[in-house]
Amino acid sequence: MLDDAIIVTWTLGVSAAGDPCLAIGEPTVVSADPPVKLLFGPLALESGGKRVEIFNPVMHGFNNEIDRLQAGLSAPAPDEGPDGRGPFQCPDCLSTTFAIQAAVWYQPGAVDLFARKPHLPIPDLFNDFNLHGVCSACGRRAVIAEFDGL
Ligand SMILES: [Zn+2]
Repeated sequence: MLDDAIIVTWTLGVSAAGDPCLAIGEPTVVSADPPVKLLFGPLALESGGKRVEIFNPVMHGFNNEIDRLQAGLSAPAPDEGPDGRGPFQCPDCLSTTFAIQAAVWYQPGAVDLFARKPHLPIPDLFNDFNLHGVCSACGRRAVIAEFDGL
């Protein structure tokens, strides 16, 4: 339910915000007809041979932060490795270069929580993380990754 959610978006890039770059993750088929692929696993951006890790669903988001705060848990091992990670491809033209935007959703009631407990790591207490991009070759806007219930 996102009725009263707070949504914060950023334009991202490797060297500067908005620079075209590759979105790196595990390309995964989420729908067969029509075919839809999204990136799973930890996400990175890459440009000019430089890679920047930006998000890991095992480490980031509300439940991971609360677990760490309440139980003193250390961060779990990053969910990554020399695996099936690769660049997201444009569904229309297969280009891999995008202008990237990220959005995080804070659940309804987040403002109340933030007001009552200002010592919490507020920027990290988001519930959903989405990555979108505008294809540098054809201009199509595509959903690159969606993580809910973090
Ligand atoms: Zn395209």
